[in-house]
Formats: sequence, structure tokens, C-alpha cells
Amino acid sequence: MTERTTLAQAAVSAGIGLHTGARVRMVLKPAAAGSGIVFERTDLDCANRRIPARFDLVRSTDLGTTIINADGASVATVEHLMAAFAGLGVDDVLVELHGPEIPAMDGSSMPFIELLEHAGLKTQPAPRRAIRVMKPVEVALGGRTAVFLPALKPAIDVSIDFDNAVIGRQQYRFETSPEGFRKEIAAARTFGFRREYETLLKAGLARGGSLENAVVLDDEGVANPEGLRFADEFVRHKILDALGDLYLAGAPILGLYQASRPGHGINNVAVRALMADASAWKWVTMSEMAEAGDASRALRG
Ligand SMILES: [Zn+2]
Repeated sequence: MTERTTLAQAAVSAGIGLHTGARVRMVLKPAAAGSGIVFERTDLDCANRRIPARFDLVRSTDLGTTIINADGASVATVEHLMAAFAGLGVDDVLVELHGPEIPAMDGSSMPFIELLEHAGLKTQPAPRRAIRVMKPVEVALGGRTAVFLPALKPAIDVSIDFDNAVIGRQQYRFETSPEGFRKEIAAARTFGFRREYETLLKAGLARGGSLENAVVLDDEGVANPEGLRFADEFVRHKILDALGDLYLAGAPILGLYQASRPGHGINNVAVRALMADASAWKWVTMSEMAEAGDASRALRG
């Protein structure tokens, strides 16, 4: 993929927001080359209802990633939709949202992938840009660590360690590609613990949460009657979240993202740290990268 990609036509979806429990209508629309991913809150009356999908607009990362513009218009839980855009390599989309939160769907990115594939993708006559990592950038946050490293093949490597018999220690390395995303990552659902869920409900949160849109763990194990989609669904979902959070950089990041016990908070801190260090990255076009790949293969061969 060396050119920018948008949708061939609009796509309509609707579903329940995980935290508000409210039904939200969402329309994905083709957008001009270079506009990026932009959310528009069609239910608001304020002057500026548009919220660009950008790392520096991230306000909260407590239960999901929320972005907010200067006029206070916000959109919550963007990460699974952003992961679908990142996974398929979609650059320019206007996301109209009649409500405060992206629908939870089944808790994974698969329904968004199906929506995008149903609408069809279309390349635009403009070069696709990426952020190439030039030197290591490492961050730490409350026992979590993450690092961006230069790499020939973009990848995300995550390890988790939960004091829970079903999850325990899991590690997964995903080399970014649309086919790989569909097969290995997109279907991995979000997960939570029944005890924490009950606390959230009392706080007026997670009102839309159910066995329909999350893997729920209790003392007995997995509460969902259908069980897990992958034995290591948990770490795969952490990869999905990281892919979505990293895509808020505004372009794909060409490098290795290696994270231990990551969450939305450290994913955003890592992107901010990378982008703040002008010597740690540079803009490249995908065709430059393809040529560089050809040149290094020729040298080796
Ligand atoms: Zn998630």
C-alpha cells in the first residue's frame, strides 16, 4: 500500500456504548486525501463538533481512550475502531457519531472490519506517509513499560501477567499486516473481571457491558457460555488496543512497539514521548520504504 486509502462508499452501523449503555448510530464516510480520521458529534450543537483522531487530544484513558477538542466535544472508546482502520491501512475517514461513544459491538474489531469490507476500500492519488522510528524511545508508568525500537518490519510485542489462573502470563508478537490482523487479532474481545464490573456499575460506568461485548472472568473462570475465541485472547486484545492507540499518532508507526502490561495510559504516554523527540522519528512515504526494502534485499542477495 503506497497510496492513501479511504472508503468506496458510506457505511452505517449502530450499537450500544460500553460505558453509557446508550444506543449510538455511527456513519463512516469517505474523506479527502490527507484529512486523516476525524470524528464528528452530530448530536451536539457546539460550533466545533469535529474531533480529529490525534494522540495530543487524548484526555482520559481510564476505561478506554477518550479524545476531546478545544470546544469540549469528545468521543469515548475510540480504540477498537482505530485498530480496524490501522489494521486494514485506512487513512482518511469521517466518522459521524450521534452520541458520546463508539458502539461496543462484540468487544472486538471484527464487526468494524466487516463494516469496512462491506463498504469497500478505495485508494486516493496521494502518497501514504508513515512515521519511521529512528532510535529507541522508552517510557514507564506505574509498573508498566513500553519502548519504540527501530525495526525493518513493523510489529507489536506485548506481554501481560495477571494474578488470575485463566490469564496468567501471556506474550504475543504481531507483525503488522491486514491479513494477519484479520486472522490473529481483530476477533479478540475486551475482557474484565466480574467483581470490578460490579464496582463500575455502582459508579454509573460500564452500563452497556454484558457477555455480548466482553469476556467476563469470575471465580469459576470464563463466564461466557461460548468460551474464548483464542486460548490467548487476552494478550491478543492488548495488541488490538495498542494498535488502535498507536494509530492516534496520525499515521502508521514503522518500528517495533514492545510493551509489558500495557494499558491505554502508557500507550498514549509512549506515543507522546516518541512524537515529542524530533530526532527519534521521521516522515517517510510507503514507496520510499518499499524501495529501501528492495535495496536491502538486493544488497543481501
Ligand atoms: Zn480494548
